[in-house]
Amino acid sequence: NKQIHLDNRPAGEASASNFKLVTAETPALQDGQVLVRHHFMSLDPYMRGRMNDSKSYAAPQPLGQVMQGGTVGEVVESKSDKYKVGDKVVGFGGWQEYSVVNADQVGALRKVDTTHVPLSHYLGAVGMPGVTAWYGLVKIIQPKAGQTVVVSAASGAVGSAFGALAKARDLRVVGIAGGEDKCKYVTDDLGFDACIDYKAHRDVGALSKALKAACLDGISGYFENVGGVVMDAVMTRMNAFGRIALCGMIAGYDGKPVPMSFPQLLLTNRMTLEGFIVSEHMEVWPEALTELGMLVGTGKLRPRESVAQGIEAAPEAFLGLLKGRNFGKQLVKLI
Ligand code: NDP
Repeated sequence: NKQIHLDNRPAGEASASNFKLVTAETPALQDGQVLVRHHFMSLDPYMRGRMNDSKSYAAPQPLGQVMQGGTVGEVVESKSDKYKVGDKVVGFGGWQEYSVVNADQVGALRKVDTTHVPLSHYLGAVGMPGVTAWYGLVKIIQPKAGQTVVVSAASGAVGSAFGALAKARDLRVVGIAGGEDKCKYVTDDLGFDACIDYKAHRDVGALSKALKAACLDGISGYFENVGGVVMDAVMTRMNAFGRIALCGMIAGYDGKPVPMSFPQLLLTNRMTLEGFIVSEHMEVWPEALTELGMLVGTGKLRPRESVAQGIEAAPEAFLGLLKGRNFGKQLVKLI
């Protein structure tokens, strides 16, 4: 069983030398346990925060242990009456090829149906990132039909799901993404009404002008994934009583501080800004996953994936995700 461990913590930017490839024996199953062979593992921006030993909503990733993370795979051995060999499951098996799971532990595994939804999408659009988009849109932004909403990192796992959920509610949805290719995908394939390439608008003023042209009625709701200049620019176009779901600030994750200057606009526009962590809202997951599964199953959401091959490729793929080199949900394919 090949595994990737966190070997040491980054000082500044993360690098491949923070990780270590280890080969371990898979322990024999005890009663109530199953052995899962992972088909895909998920690489997610939050993992960067856990590589640090700082105070956060989640405990740091322990050193010398398997990197934690979401996985999908197949039950290949079972000593549980809840799962049988061949069941497709989503879980939290970490950066390794196999995991032994206590099937009775609440939330440890979930059986999934791959008739209409490919297995890998349970780590993306019909999984944690999709529910994240749903929570921010439905529970925080609470939009009314016809309003304009904006999302940053629009081509990514969360952003693409946000677009489909917004279109399903008759909203005008404008994306922000890095580069022409990503923007073209956001409008042509994901069906956004417009997409702005922030890399072609280097400062707040230029980006704000582009947003004005794309959002003629201003912006009623903003789903923030990035922070920094992008967030500052959107703030200048928010309508009075606008609502902001603060989901992530990836621009500042990898050791570089990102200056921002919006508090005064929060006041003058009487805005609401709410941060959230999707795993603290398990009560919405069933409803959100049902809607997201329908959108994917009916072809209304066709999420793109960046797939790295083999566990050895995980560290570089993860570092690439932190630099925006992924195009869609970043996965590692293990078989
Ligand atoms: P994505 O698939 O969107 O990948 C990350 C993307 O961020 C990159 O592709 C890149 O796209 C974009 N990005 C923008 N600015 C930068 C920058 N300065 N440096 C690097 N990348 C940048 O990831 P996810 O959809 O998985 O996650 C999106 C956000 O949602 C993250 O901030 C994440 O932490 C957050 N999140 C929060 C959760 C919560 O519970 N609050 C749960 C899940 C995710 P581009 O090339 O367009 O810039």
